[in-house]
Amino acid sequence: MSMLLCDFHIHTTWSDGSVDLPDVVDIYGQAGFDVISVTDHVYNSDSTIGAWADRLNQAVSEENFPTYMEALRVESERAMRRYGMLLIPGVEITKDYLSEEASAHVLLLGPGRYISADLPWPDIFREARGQGAIVVACHPHYTDHELHDTLYFWRHRRQYAPFFDAWEVANRNDLFSVVSLNNYPILANGDFHKAQHLYSWKTLLPCRKEEESVKECIRDNRGVAITMFRNGTARE
Ligand code: ZN
Ligand code: ZN
Repeated sequence: MSMLLCDFHIHTTWSDGSVDLPDVVDIYGQAGFDVISVTDHVYNSDSTIGAWADRLNQAVSEENFPTYMEALRVESERAMRRYGMLLIPGVEITKDYLSEEASAHVLLLGPGRYISADLPWPDIFREARGQGAIVVACHPHYTDHELHDTLYFWRHRRQYAPFFDAWEVANRNDLFSVVSLNNYPILANGDFHKAQHLYSWKTLLPCRKEEESVKECIRDNRGVAITMFRNGTARE
């Protein structure tokens, strides 16, 4: 079975990305990707920093969630028709606090209903699992690119590891060796916000190009490979 080239962490103009959803689909489709997940931010409002982000950026909210999901459904049909590319709808639950030690971001791949970022983490995980979503700890360690790192889950990894289907072992150009040293299940994603972020760490999965097979393969996490996708010259 050939490996599927995947990126499960992509932002569009639905939140703080600079490329709109149809153009994102065209960029990844033309680059030959098999599977992508669009994961725009849902921000917390229970801290000043989270509330600021929500106000400054466009964001996915309880109000626009149905419209967001409908836009993803329309584009996922076009992605399959035009490029043979599977698009899995997602969100990034984004809890930012003044302290990096308290901040954390989580990808939910394939959620069915809106989940508020103001809920406590255990409630978010329970709800996401109930909806059949894949739960991924994002950029769990120090990064080169986040203005504000998100260290909460790493600090509390023994408590939270059972809740995650995978941890990002790589995000954009960063590689988190601490994740593989702990033998945690892995994914590698681009955290795409603009066109040049296409060139970044990606995941290769040995499964069929269907949402349930992809989810099962992430959960099982056997044979998952990561690759640095470059065009030869593009670098930040
Ligand atoms: Zn993030
Ligand atoms: Zn992100």
